[in-house]
Amino acid sequence: MRSSHTDVLVVGGGIIGLVTAWRAAQRGLGVAVVDPEPGGGAALVAAGMLAAVSELDHGEQTLLGLNIASARLYPDFVAELESVTGRDTGYRACGTLAVALDSDDRAQLRELHALQRRSGLESEWLTGRECRRLEPMLAPGVRGGLRVDGDHQIDPRRLAAALVTACERAGVVFHRAWAGRLRVVGDRAAGVTLAGGPERGAELDAGQVVIAGGSLSGRLAGVPDDVVAPVRPVKGQVLRLTVPRPYAPFLSRTLRAEVRGSHIYLVPRENGELVLGATSEELGWDTTVTAGGVYELLRDAHELLPGITELPLTETRAGLRPTSPDNAPLLGPTALPGLHLATGHHRNGVLLTPVTGRVMATVLTTGELPDDARPFAPGRFSPAASARLEQHA
Ligand SMILES: Cc1cc2nc3c(=O)[nH]c(=O)nc-3n(C[C@H](O)[C@H](O)[C@H](O)COP(=O)(O)OP(=O)(O)OC[C@H]3O[C@@H](n4cnc5c(N)ncnc54)[C@H](O)[C@@H]3O)c2cc1C
Repeated sequence: MRSSHTDVLVVGGGIIGLVTAWRAAQRGLGVAVVDPEPGGGAALVAAGMLAAVSELDHGEQTLLGLNIASARLYPDFVAELESVTGRDTGYRACGTLAVALDSDDRAQLRELHALQRRSGLESEWLTGRECRRLEPMLAPGVRGGLRVDGDHQIDPRRLAAALVTACERAGVVFHRAWAGRLRVVGDRAAGVTLAGGPERGAELDAGQVVIAGGSLSGRLAGVPDDVVAPVRPVKGQVLRLTVPRPYAPFLSRTLRAEVRGSHIYLVPRENGELVLGATSEELGWDTTVTAGGVYELLRDAHELLPGITELPLTETRAGLRPTSPDNAPLLGPTALPGLHLATGHHRNGVLLTPVTGRVMATVLTTGELPDDARPFAPGRFSPAASARLEQHA
């Protein structure tokens, strides 16, 4: 059974596969996406913080450059996406406040502030009283905080839905099925075989294949061992509460906190949704919501914002962050000609959506990775495969 040929076939219709498909189609390529449920994936769980500055971590300086580049693209990216689709993405330029509850937490936040300043990033140290002036629902025990006016948020569910519409309008073809196996003809990736759905068994031909399967990116059969994406799932449990009208606004900006060593965040949407996250668990593909996960999130949030226990708890959910060994994405060609990766975005996939679209569209149309994306080439985890790739270039 054979279906049509396309220039680019994207395996995975999460936000990363979708933005790749949309941007490639805008550049004139014929594009198809394979996914049983495009617009699903981790974006259905993610909080949507665009936190390049407040999530800075030691050892992630290279990733910082890509995060900042994507944060800068966001306003124009959202404006274009909303205008093309007529859909609201819930983008809010509301800023972020990171606070500490005890002296250890405060010391850690001070350390983050120093790192941000050394990295040339903008953030302002506030006393506990200044934090409460900004966010009056905060507990009196807050010891200090960091104000980051440049870290914003978007609603990832709406972002994913808008990207599906944008793809449809750009002529991207959707195959609502699992890709079961990569097809390799000669020494090239040549397409995939579908594993389920009405087109089960169909062989889709493509000039180039992009694996954007999130935490499943390393599981596609038929991929040669030395180019399999080294990506694993990192589970995150998230709660959604609703702020009823009399409470609004409960919070005016994204709130992040160290609460006695554990990390939580609260992201207030304009529609009254309040997202509380997130656990970080190495448990394979398990997506069970556990009593312990919910308890810990609510316990820490209650210490920070005592009024939170009055709010209706409307949803509990767990999702999987697609995580690479260095927490940075894998973007661009592999050592198998015709096969690319766009995966491994870990906790920054929403933030990195605009820049991933730009990078992948450039690679797919020119064969070249833009300079700012070279540190994220998949070959960094496989020097032998990388050497083979250079021979082909
Ligand atoms: C709890 C949590 C909180 C987060 N918070 C944030 C945040 O605040 N800010 C931020 O920037 N990021 C955040 N993230 C990270 C972000 O959500 C992810 O990095 C991003 O959504 C990954 O997108 P993706 O398209 O690569 O993968 P996914 O969303 O996992 O999508 C992959 C898609 O590929 C499909 N697929 C896989 N294999 C196949 C196959 N063989 N055939 C067909 N289809 C296939 C799947 O069905 C799925 O739809 C969070 C993630 C979690 C879990």
